[in-house]
Amino acid sequence: MKIDSQTAFGTRACPGCAVEVPANENRCPICGYEFPGRGPLQRQLIWIVVLLLGLLLIPLWLALR
Ligand SMILES: [Zn+2]
Repeated sequence: MKIDSQTAFGTRACPGCAVEVPANENRCPICGYEFPGRGPLQRQLIWIVVLLLGLLLIPLWLALR
């Protein structure tokens, strides 16, 4: 019985192409699917910035009309 690096890290099935991707990989090497987990905080921050910009720009746009 030998343990290779992939089984040591574990794998997860890609929802895009159903291939087994090593758990330490954040992106599927076959179809490029990005697994959620390490990135969502940055995406949430981007959305917060976009929403704040919108909240600032909409009153400005309304005032300047
Ligand atoms: Zn995939």
